[in-house]
Amino acid sequence: MSENLTLEQIQNFEGKYPKQLWYLFLVEMWERFCFYGMRGVLTIFMADQILGLSLSDKEANLKYGAIQAFVYAFTFIGGIFADKILGFKKSLVFGALVMILGNFIIAFSPQEFFYFGITLSIIGTGFFKPNISSMVGDLYKEGDPRRDAGFGLFYSGINIGALLGGSVCVYLGTSPDYGWSYAFLSAGIVMVIGLITFMITKKSLGPIGDSPLSGLSSSKRNSKEILVFLGSLLSIPLIFMMIKNTDYTDYFMYTIGPLAIFYFLYETIKEKELKAQKKLIAAFIFILFSVVFWAFFEQSGGSLALFAKDNLHHNLLFFEINPNIVNNTSNSLFVIIFSPILGLVWLAMAKKKIEPNTVIKFGLGFLFLALAFYVFYYTKFFADANGVSSLNIFTLAYFVITFGELCLSPIGLSIMTKLSPKRLSGMMMGMWFLASAYGQYAAGLLGAGMSSPDENASLITKLQGYTDGYYQLAIYALIAGLLLILISPLVKKLMQEVK
Ligand code: GLN
Repeated sequence: MSENLTLEQIQNFEGKYPKQLWYLFLVEMWERFCFYGMRGVLTIFMADQILGLSLSDKEANLKYGAIQAFVYAFTFIGGIFADKILGFKKSLVFGALVMILGNFIIAFSPQEFFYFGITLSIIGTGFFKPNISSMVGDLYKEGDPRRDAGFGLFYSGINIGALLGGSVCVYLGTSPDYGWSYAFLSAGIVMVIGLITFMITKKSLGPIGDSPLSGLSSSKRNSKEILVFLGSLLSIPLIFMMIKNTDYTDYFMYTIGPLAIFYFLYETIKEKELKAQKKLIAAFIFILFSVVFWAFFEQSGGSLALFAKDNLHHNLLFFEINPNIVNNTSNSLFVIIFSPILGLVWLAMAKKKIEPNTVIKFGLGFLFLALAFYVFYYTKFFADANGVSSLNIFTLAYFVITFGELCLSPIGLSIMTKLSPKRLSGMMMGMWFLASAYGQYAAGLLGAGMSSPDENASLITKLQGYTDGYYQLAIYALIAGLLLILISPLVKKLMQEVK
């Protein structure tokens, strides 16, 4: 790969997708394999009484929530450092190395080094995750109608990685022939493949993701970079402590959000140009709505998993399957199939000039979410006398929710890159993921509210509790969708020429 491409050359690509998108697709696919692989084994490893951390189910769930929240919260910090000092490329390489180290350390002795390794995974993901998405955005010129479709394809890559990682690592971790070390080892090895893929292909990105400090002398730049690396090392004990004691998670979540908002306001005021400020506020509105979306959507890892475990038959169409497998994989499978297709639909609509703009797509996302939760609620009417219901209807709900996700999640990544000024694009992408952290956090609270306080309650009582909860979520999602459509003229005004 000897080309020295300019930004102009990259962005003037022909066809539907730039070739660099495929490279970033692969790198992100491997990173998500590592991330979702680690995430897939997390709770079961922590709750394993013999070879794991011997935590109670409740403690394991709390820690799982805390780790998830920290991972996504650190993307905000990773995004800022990429914007100000490292640039996306260096940030990504640093993040990948730290993630690799984290997984290898856990693999060496899971019971002994888990907390230390997972702390590294949190820091590494923070430096990696937002910045690869920002680079996808940089492949496109302002106003290029192919951008949303590009993010749609990228999103398939995310889910291929998620599906493979979730299944391979859980298989290795829980198999008597292998065990937890192999799960973490495989996540680490795959991340090495991702990093190598990036190192081989990064030249094709030309100036995209280069250091924002290229104007400075290399010694000044180096010392700033070293400070970032040192700062990350210094934060290890702090994160370590906060994961060990989940009481701190609440304090952390109460603090990081308001701090992020203050910092956002500071940068928005500093932006000076009113047009850019308005766009940032529009981005902020999308971020706020996404918190609500993820809080509902992430029931999948919590209340829906328990619902699947207890209240569903094991028949899907003509074959038998464990409902938890459906709960864990159907969404990714639907995304992999439908994300590129929907991307092509957006492209075809753009050609005919009838593509809905982002606000309407977000609104649609909530309407699909509402419909999906209505279908989850509707499983109640298919239940037998024991409170066990139809897996087919449950899977149908996952089919519907996937379209909601596809109208919001890849579109959200795309709109962050459209609305952010170049100097703040990492931070805004980080804020987008910070919203996911809050979504995850709220999802746990919502799920806990729905589950019956009595572990031994009958399946009928459990069914009643969950489906009533899903009905309420359907109503709130509907209200959020309608509200978004109602305020769409205002948001469109803020967005100005951005679609
Ligand atoms: N599933 C997507 C990913 O892993 C979106 C995650 C999120 O924003 N909550 O990238």
